[in-house]
Amino acid sequence: MSQEDYSGFMVFAEQHDGVIHPVTFELLGKARELAEKKGSKVYAALLGYNAGSLSSELIYYGADRVYVVDSEKLKVFDVMHYKDAFLKVIEKAKPEAILMGATNTGRTLAPRISAALKTGLTADCTDLFIDEKGNFIQVRPAFSGNIFAHIGTKTKPAMATVRYRTFKAIEKDTSRKGEVEKVEYSGPDDTGYKVLEKIPREKVNISDAEVIVAVGKGLKKKEDLKIIEDLAKLLNATVGASRPLVDDDWISRDHQVGFSGNIVKPKIYIAIGISGSPQHTVGMKDSGIVISINKDPNAPIAEYSDYFIVGDLYEVVPKLIEEIKKKKGT
Ligand SMILES: Cc1cc2nc3c(=O)[nH]c(=O)nc-3n(C[C@H](O)[C@H](O)[C@H](O)COP(=O)(O)OP(=O)(O)OC[C@H]3O[C@@H](n4cnc5c(N)ncnc54)[C@H](O)[C@@H]3O)c2cc1C
Repeated sequence: MSQEDYSGFMVFAEQHDGVIHPVTFELLGKARELAEKKGSKVYAALLGYNAGSLSSELIYYGADRVYVVDSEKLKVFDVMHYKDAFLKVIEKAKPEAILMGATNTGRTLAPRISAALKTGLTADCTDLFIDEKGNFIQVRPAFSGNIFAHIGTKTKPAMATVRYRTFKAIEKDTSRKGEVEKVEYSGPDDTGYKVLEKIPREKVNISDAEVIVAVGKGLKKKEDLKIIEDLAKLLNATVGASRPLVDDDWISRDHQVGFSGNIVKPKIYIAIGISGSPQHTVGMKDSGIVISINKDPNAPIAEYSDYFIVGDLYEVVPKLIEEIKKKKGT
């Protein structure tokens, strides 16, 4: 089959226990934009057990055709089953490109698919577009985020992963119509994997937070996180952090904002003792109002700030807490 025979953009519709991960809707929105530019179609691959009813949601958010693989073997995320079932869908649809969320699931599955198809995979893309020659181009930070590389993949389908909150989903349109096609999957009884138990962990969903109080290396010791948590609690905010705090094991990676952490777009982002490295700001630059507290008036974060308080966080934060408490009457 020649490379020209591949057409359309396929989104892997990630779902867990019947709930579609919102990155899927964002990817469908981007896939629509790309497909319209190429005059091609948007496909969604929906894998799971009794998950077929989610197809209409995918169509409302931009899919022209949903390939559904419904099998009890896909009830839990066994990567070997998911890989084989997804390969069947890809073989049927022959898309020009496959878009997947850079989630734990996407990051586990995508490399296996790309290895099986002997095709290129570009991870953590920040943009995707069609160039003037009609080529699918993937943009991602390179050299520690100091440049943005534009990557074209020679083999097809091209594969890209994109982090949650990178793109915007299009408006849900319940009048949209699309096709649903079932794909059979039998698969082996034993893949060598066995899910013994699912242990839920407390997960911080910082990407969806409306208010974030983020802290960086301006903090002197782990115990001082308490004042940041106190401020966050008063503001009903989620605590964010720069990477050094995560590397030092002061706080879990779920809280990290930036290039190798999470992309956030809160209404209010308070950056305390954070210098504003390119790797940090790439994750928060689309926030609504940015308020920074830093003792260095020349800290690069100033450029991204609507309000910049020059001062020692150990003096400013307790005062802020006091004032907010007074206002709240607590
Ligand atoms: C491949 C790669 C990926 C990376 N990914 C990320 C990422 O996802 N997220 C991320 O954040 N970083 C990331 N980094 C690290 C990044 O390059 C910076 O090192 C990091 O962002 C700096 O964190 P910081 O601003 O907390 O610390 P610093 O740069 O050390 O800044 C501390 C700031 O606190 C101020 N300060 C000090 N004391 C006080 C005080 N008492 N009161 C008020 N202000 C004070 C200082 O003036 C300074 O501006 C990455 C780096 C690499 C190479």
